[in-house]
Amino acid sequence: MFTKSVLSSVFALFIMLLSFIVWANNNESNTHAPIAIALHGGAGTLSPQQFTPELKAQYYAKLSEALEAGYRILQTGADGQEAVVAAIMILENSPLFNAGVGAVYTFDTEHELDASIMHGKTREAGAIAGVKHIKNPILAAQAVMNHSVHVMLSGDGAETFAEQFAIERVDNTHFNTERRLQSLHKAKARIKRQASLNYQHPEKFGTVGVVVLDQLGNLVAGTSTGGMTAKRFGRIGDSPIIGAGTFADNTSCAVSATGHGEYFIRYQVASDICKRISYQNISLAEAADIVINRVLVDAGGDGGVVAVDGQGNVAMPFNTTGMYRASIDANGVKTVAIFE
Ligand code: ASP
Repeated sequence: MFTKSVLSSVFALFIMLLSFIVWANNNESNTHAPIAIALHGGAGTLSPQQFTPELKAQYYAKLSEALEAGYRILQTGADGQEAVVAAIMILENSPLFNAGVGAVYTFDTEHELDASIMHGKTREAGAIAGVKHIKNPILAAQAVMNHSVHVMLSGDGAETFAEQFAIERVDNTHFNTERRLQSLHKAKARIKRQASLNYQHPEKFGTVGVVVLDQLGNLVAGTSTGGMTAKRFGRIGDSPIIGAGTFADNTSCAVSATGHGEYFIRYQVASDICKRISYQNISLAEAADIVINRVLVDAGGDGGVVAVDGQGNVAMPFNTTGMYRASIDANGVKTVAIFE
């Protein structure tokens, strides 16, 4: 009898000890697993003179809000895709950026939106292109990644697919802003002067993108855009193209790009950065710098990227005069900036 109760007490103690070890272990890995996030709100020909202190403060506040929302999600131990989607939705819902509300106008005075997301653990990816009624395109891209056998859906088909997941639809005018309308008028005047149907120079950038490292070591990248002002003929840029505007692979890095999409497609910018890390064994900073400041500059392509690797290092190079950007690296160092 006595032996039996001693035995059960010893057993209970043993279980408690075991639970404590498991808890302490988990706790320790949570505390030490690095997390990081970087985001952009577009790169382009920006000059400090065009910013009133109020406007600059608005950009800084929105970039910070998205950054911190994403970071808080990473701190909970959630999968990186949750942080990417939450941060991108904040930027899509702001008229300051060329994604969601505030998207640039097509030549026909409409909005056609593109978005994509890629998960570095499985290399699963989802993208939508040329949609006109999806309030938050990144949600539809995420649904494609998680619920479709396909990677990229376009136009009406993408809209029908999104409907099945109760993703909010809006009238195309929901994305209207006066500022982007003025950009369209200017672009059209320039096209007229150039008497060219193939006018392609970007009037303004402003795409948004987020990359993260989550507590489980997953690298995830997402990008969302209205594309380029005065685009025609169903033009699709790099943002929804996996490898061009968005790429993630847990063994190398996660990248989201912004800039003159045609160049980013032709030079496969996002995947090129990650491949250089894998094949040449160079650092994230070096790989991103070579692709943006050498390869792309030599080709004549404007733009930049945000990128993160498995250690939580962050790189945010751009070859334009400015890029709206923000990051918190693995050491908890926060950056919010527009110019060099
Ligand atoms: N890369 C986007 C596109 O070409 C534009 C941008 O980044 O602002 O569609």
